[in-house]
Amino acid sequence: MRKLVLSLLSITVILGSSSAFAQSENEQIVVANRKNDEQQQKKPYLILISADGFRHDYIEKHQASFLSELSRSGVRAEALIPSFPSVTFPNHYTIVTGLYPSHHGLVGNNMYDPKIEERYSLRNAKAVLDPAWYGGTPIWALAEQQKMLTACYYWPGSEAAIQGVLPTYYYPYSEKIHIDKRIEEVVKWLRLPEADRPHLITFYFPEVDHAGHTYGPDAPETKAAVQYIDASVKSLVKAVGQTGIAVNYMFVADHGMTAINQEQLLKLPMEVNPEEMVVVSGGVYMSLFVKDADKIQQTYQEILAAKAPHYQVYLKTEVPEKYHFGAKDDYFGRIGDIVLIADSPYYFSNHKASPGAHGYDPYQYPDMNATFMAWGPQIKPNTRVEKFENIHIYPLMTTLLDLNHNNKIDGDDRMVKQILK
Ligand SMILES: [Zn+2]
Repeated sequence: MRKLVLSLLSITVILGSSSAFAQSENEQIVVANRKNDEQQQKKPYLILISADGFRHDYIEKHQASFLSELSRSGVRAEALIPSFPSVTFPNHYTIVTGLYPSHHGLVGNNMYDPKIEERYSLRNAKAVLDPAWYGGTPIWALAEQQKMLTACYYWPGSEAAIQGVLPTYYYPYSEKIHIDKRIEEVVKWLRLPEADRPHLITFYFPEVDHAGHTYGPDAPETKAAVQYIDASVKSLVKAVGQTGIAVNYMFVADHGMTAINQEQLLKLPMEVNPEEMVVVSGGVYMSLFVKDADKIQQTYQEILAAKAPHYQVYLKTEVPEKYHFGAKDDYFGRIGDIVLIADSPYYFSNHKASPGAHGYDPYQYPDMNATFMAWGPQIKPNTRVEKFENIHIYPLMTTLLDLNHNNKIDGDDRMVKQILK
């Protein structure tokens, strides 16, 4: 998903026991001099797990027996509806802020901000660590502001000091650390004295998304990845159980996956002059920034006239309301003047495309829908709920952790009574 090389010079926090220079990118970073407030020490614990690209039907489709058993003991939603565009960074960040992508600023895995003429991408470590790209108040920042400690074993946004706040414990993203070692660390965190113990822990699995892209959602490799997550969650729950601490879990995904049409790839029906236009492509959608505002209408008409079937083209001022991706919602000015959105299962590419993709309209295509499950002492047992939008997870977490929040969000507390005891 993303690879980061962390420059130690860019970290303004004080590192834990070992010297800064001994740190490699795989080592934990600890913000010194933080303690749980006495009042926070009595509050519940939550582990928020994301399995990237874990489609709403994968538990049955790929026979995840442990998750299936857990879902019968706790809450399972029919599906979790991602926000548009149904891609990784925007949706992970929506889950932890309660805001639509256009409202928190991460409008894509790749972005362009015309005000500063800079690009953001998952592989651009400088951008990923720059808090200026991230709006809203992520749940770990909200908790830390109220003197409740948090730990992120990966989550998009967790390495940037958003509002000046980093999680107390976190790791620079790496896919090299073995799962057993990662589970061991979660257990260590939970065995810390109450004043140092994190109440919110985020945990992230990339494997199902990787397999879904490379082999498609129906492939045996994707089934194997689902079963790997199933076994890993089982190990995590067992190891955490041995600490004797009553922990709540939410198991979520950012989006689903669908098998795409690799034969008939979509292309922008015009030559792009980089002097006149910046193109940001997410494969399933494209954002076009036209440098001369007087030429927006003309460019739009040209595309319309030359357009092939299987995608929609909109002026930013005319993007359908349901996407929350038009001019009215563009709080950060990072949505292009013209937006192209592919119909599933078509994909924009000038070369070739992998068998699986996501990013499509999550309200129209059920394959884009993700998984939501929760279980633990604060969670209702044996409960099924209807599908809901991922903007509503934030109030669930703030209620469960008993945190105050008055920041304006898009989600509301409609799921709280249905899911929490
Ligand atoms: Zn993803």
